Amino acid sequence: MTALLEVEDLRVSYGKIEAVKGISFSVEAGQVVTLIGTNGAGKTTTLRTLSGLLKPTSGKILFDGKPLNGVAAHKIVALGLAHSPEGRHIFPRLTIAENLQLGAFLRKDKDGIEKDIQRAYDLFPILGERRKQAAGTLSGGEQQMLAMGRALMSQPKLLMLDEPSMGLSPIMMQKIMATISELKSQGTTILLVEQNAQAALSLADQGHVMEVGNIVLSGTGQDLLHDESVRKAYLGED
Ligand code: ATP
Repeated sequence: MTALLEVEDLRVSYGKIEAVKGISFSVEAGQVVTLIGTNGAGKTTTLRTLSGLLKPTSGKILFDGKPLNGVAAHKIVALGLAHSPEGRHIFPRLTIAENLQLGAFLRKDKDGIEKDIQRAYDLFPILGERRKQAAGTLSGGEQQMLAMGRALMSQPKLLMLDEPSMGLSPIMMQKIMATISELKSQGTTILLVEQNAQAALSLADQGHVMEVGNIVLSGTGQDLLHDESVRKAYLGED
């Protein structure tokens, strides 16, 4: 069986600085795969390259059997790869409902879109309660939920989440992680970038540790969670 996403020897540079130095990994349909690592390891650069926002200098990206190299970002969304970016990339002046509708910009099935908006409200009840309010009035964590909900509106085959727990209170973080588990149990395939290694590895099928542009260690989420070097470097143990 071929994987849903296959990345082979991917390299990405900003001018002379090589941020991703030849990484390879794959994501099977139905899996949650996580990339962990400290600031500047190249995780965000990897996701932005997969979405077509950055051009790789070399390497192969195969998504659902098709090469993504050189494919425009909006076409990549149409192929089924959605990206919930780091930070608050929602439209603050539009309502929550309008933000969700924008996530479905490639779809024409009105009934299906309505159903999926309802699904986002079921996943995140606060979004439903405040559907008519400007999205800029949501808290950081709630905006993160909206960004996830919006990415789901394109009915992606693969959902990429960049640091969904960033800046969240422990309770909000638990809620986001529980939602990721719920999405997984509904069959969504997820590529999760996280600095919170404990949370990410706990729910991931596979994990990869990135350091300065390289994958230095790979394994199942559970293996990495119990790996001594990971525990020391990323889980704050002596
Ligand atoms: P973080 O968790 O802090 O976002 P990351 O693992 O996602 O870290 P990247 O954001 O991918 O790391 O950054 C990888 C490297 O590329 C870093 O050294 C960073 O300074 C550099 N970099 C990122 N964006 C740019 C840019 N637009 N121009 C130049 N260098 C950049």
